[in-house]
Amino acid sequence: MDLAYTPEHDAFRAEARAWLAANVPAEPLPSFDTAEGFQAHRDWESKLNAGGWAMVPWPVEYGGRGADLLEWLIFEEEYYRANAPGRVNQNGIFLLGPTIMEYGTDEQKARYLPRMASSEEVWAQGWSEPNAGSDMAAIQATALRDGDEFVINGQKTWASRGAFADWLFGMFRTDPDTERHRGLTFILVPLDSPGVTVRPIEQLDGETGFAEVFFDDARVSVVNQLGKEGEGWKVAMSTAGFERGLMLRSPARFQRTAQRLVDLYRAHADECEPALRDEVVRCWMGAEAYTLETYRTVSRLLSGGKIGFEASLNKIFWSELDLAMHRTALAILGHRAELLPGAPSAGDVGSWLDGYLFSLSGPIYAGTNEIQRNVIAERILGLPRS
Ligand SMILES: Cc1cc2nc3c(=O)[nH]c(=O)nc-3n(C[C@H](O)[C@H](O)[C@H](O)COP(=O)(O)OP(=O)(O)OC[C@H]3O[C@@H](n4cnc5c(N)ncnc54)[C@H](O)[C@@H]3O)c2cc1C
Repeated sequence: MDLAYTPEHDAFRAEARAWLAANVPAEPLPSFDTAEGFQAHRDWESKLNAGGWAMVPWPVEYGGRGADLLEWLIFEEEYYRANAPGRVNQNGIFLLGPTIMEYGTDEQKARYLPRMASSEEVWAQGWSEPNAGSDMAAIQATALRDGDEFVINGQKTWASRGAFADWLFGMFRTDPDTERHRGLTFILVPLDSPGVTVRPIEQLDGETGFAEVFFDDARVSVVNQLGKEGEGWKVAMSTAGFERGLMLRSPARFQRTAQRLVDLYRAHADECEPALRDEVVRCWMGAEAYTLETYRTVSRLLSGGKIGFEASLNKIFWSELDLAMHRTALAILGHRAELLPGAPSAGDVGSWLDGYLFSLSGPIYAGTNEIQRNVIAERILGLPRS
């Protein structure tokens, strides 16, 4: 692991910083889990893409700038430093995009990646079903071959951004005689297809961050299959690796929260119990440790390594760190922590409550932390299954 930046890295950082300073909206955009906010974020993504910053590590022909993963980390640091809007197409650019890069045909790369980079097409992830959450191999939704088409039936749920997204990627059972991990195929489905019904789900904060999606004889072309038929589990594990191990939660996000937490503590230090100072320091150190660990992962990937089961360690670490940071912030704020975003005189206080509510879901999404602990026990420590 080499922690020194080259002059090219410094120049890249300066260019990103200058572009973001000139272009990041002065006021925060409305939440992307509202219709208005979704469109505002889509417009922002389009601007980011026009500037060449949508997904810097992708090849130029697909909307990137051919940067390496280290430059992506640098870009992320500048992005959070500039307080730029959340990425509405995160399921696409951070999860499906790298999977298409690994398993897609040249036609699929050319078809999907540029429109993903510009957020002309925003993606939802359709894995969970009412009876298949942690136990993803219990998926029941079927996609049965009829000539050059799959006929899809069943239900997906908890699809983030699903209420407003254009496309869904998901796993479907293409061989009804199989069970568990076999006979599943990774398929890309336009959400406006006949036979697809999207029903928004209201979440804890009242916004429609999710949708359940119903398929009634929905037909999609077999060219929408990613990877080989029946090998969906393998393709999905690659997506999960990016989700848990690297791209979904870049360290810059937590460094930014840690810095805000330090600033919050400093502003209220006189009113805080001494133990809270230790908590703040622990959180800050956690964010730094996560950053160094991510730089190590990226160094490994740049030398030809792959994301492996250690992605589960990573996922537990970032989700528990996020929770600890928000809990500490609420403790510093005391009774003021109950102010909702937008309440009179709330100022920035409401964003901590908002962030706390979301951080509660960190140990659940991207595979619950209990499941990650099982993976660590069995796959890394080699412990018996029972
Ligand atoms: C904010 C958020 C966003 C999400 N976005 C998406 C999305 O975009 N697409 C999508 O497909 N899904 C999404 N999900 C769903 C998420 O993947 C599931 O909620 C998660 O996998 C858990 O499944 P479940 O809710 O069915 O819980 P269950 O699987 O029923 O689990 C219930 C509890 O039992 C525990 N448990 C279950 N099995 C075991 C075991 N073998 N060992 C130990 N403990 C166990 C779990 O850890 C959990 O605590 C999202 C969830 C949240 C909260």
